[in-house]
Amino acid sequence: MNKKKAVFLDRDGTIVVHEPYLSSPDQLKLLPNAAEGIRLFRESGYLVIVITNQSGIARGFFDEERLVLIHKKLMRMLKEEGITIDDIYYCPHHTEGVIEQYALDCDCRKPKPKMLLNAAKQHNIDLTQSLMIGDSEVDMLAGKNAGCTSILIRNGCTDSINTPSITGMEDYVVKDLLEAARLFIR
Ligand SMILES: [Mg+2]
Ligand SMILES: [Zn+2]
Repeated sequence: MNKKKAVFLDRDGTIVVHEPYLSSPDQLKLLPNAAEGIRLFRESGYLVIVITNQSGIARGFFDEERLVLIHKKLMRMLKEEGITIDDIYYCPHHTEGVIEQYALDCDCRKPKPKMLLNAAKQHNIDLTQSLMIGDSEVDMLAGKNAGCTSILIRNGCTDSINTPSITGMEDYVVKDLLEAARLFIR
């Protein structure tokens, strides 16, 4: 069976407006052009997979049950735009967490590539044909570590603490997901 290509998307600052430790479905706001960009990628045969660090779980700000609700709402919002996504992977861990079961130096938190590697296995993805798109340096590194092309989003609603400037870890810099899609689809 032929391997598929995928676009791996960070969530906060890439698909939705970056709210630090977003903990309620009501806080979700799609970024301008995000739905349109995802639609273009899907129409040209990319799997669309969300890859997100959610250390708010380890830090005790919200639990996994709450995160599932948030992701259900995100799927619904995208569905209203006519878009389905293929999967969501999240890392709930952090070394400085206060919830014991999540307070560890895991092997999945970006910039580690584990979530992308798991997705590649489960969805039969060719990582060398795939893209990692995000708004912070850890996204760019996770993409590189998995053997993907990394694309940095600079939409102004972004994780400026973790990416104070363009770091040179990215292959391309774009404004938003639509610009990213147009770069790779003709
Ligand atoms: Mg982000
Ligand atoms: Zn983890």
